[in-house]
Amino acid sequence: MQFFDTHIHLADFENTTPDDLMKSLKQAGIQKCICVCSRPQDFDKVAAFARSYPATVVPAFGLHPWYVGELSEGFETELERFLKMFEGALIGECGFDRLKNPDFEAQKEVFERQLSLAQTYHRPLLLHAVKADIWLQKYLPVLPKKSVFHSYSSSAEFLKQILKCELYISVNKRFFRKSDSGKIILQTPIERLVVETDAPFQSELADLQTVVSEIAQIKQMSLEKTAEILYSNATEILNNG
Ligand SMILES: [Zn+2]
Repeated sequence: MQFFDTHIHLADFENTTPDDLMKSLKQAGIQKCICVCSRPQDFDKVAAFARSYPATVVPAFGLHPWYVGELSEGFETELERFLKMFEGALIGECGFDRLKNPDFEAQKEVFERQLSLAQTYHRPLLLHAVKADIWLQKYLPVLPKKSVFHSYSSSAEFLKQILKCELYISVNKRFFRKSDSGKIILQTPIERLVVETDAPFQSELADLQTVVSEIAQIKQMSLEKTAEILYSNATEILNNG
């Protein structure tokens, strides 16, 4: 079985080499991954991963809502440069975190700048959305198709709106601690679901298989079939031409 991790921060692993990290991915059955950036200082590192391991690493470049203070004058030019360098690159992670920062305006500016590039270059967004449904609502119809709500933490009600807009949700090990996790998985057509580790932060590489098997149980499908579909969903997100 092979897995596709749609949200990992390769630039944030410590005490390992890129080669060893790639070996650890393979050991966990992770054949491919989308490597996100949190801030511009990650861009070069993530680009190096994507260049060195093109069969495994798909890069995403962006500015996380926790680091809106790091927005610089040349941010868009820099982001655009990396998007042009990597035709298959996505934008992320970006979004809103109302739990961490109740200031909408600062996050809005950073988000809208990234959204506008995503629309211009037809790249899906990898969205960080925490307690921010009311802020994100108005953007749903204009988000690039196949954008992904990473580490899904919103309600079943908000999910209905997401699904109407041809968007995806991604879940990790921590998601299954939520009391309504089963309900949300059942409500999401399997074609719109992808999985992630968010390593090295929210879970470990080996946890990806556990997540796939949780989904298989809830959906009452075989582990192999579930893994196959989730993998192909992730591939579909990349196919954004
Ligand atoms: Zn993340």
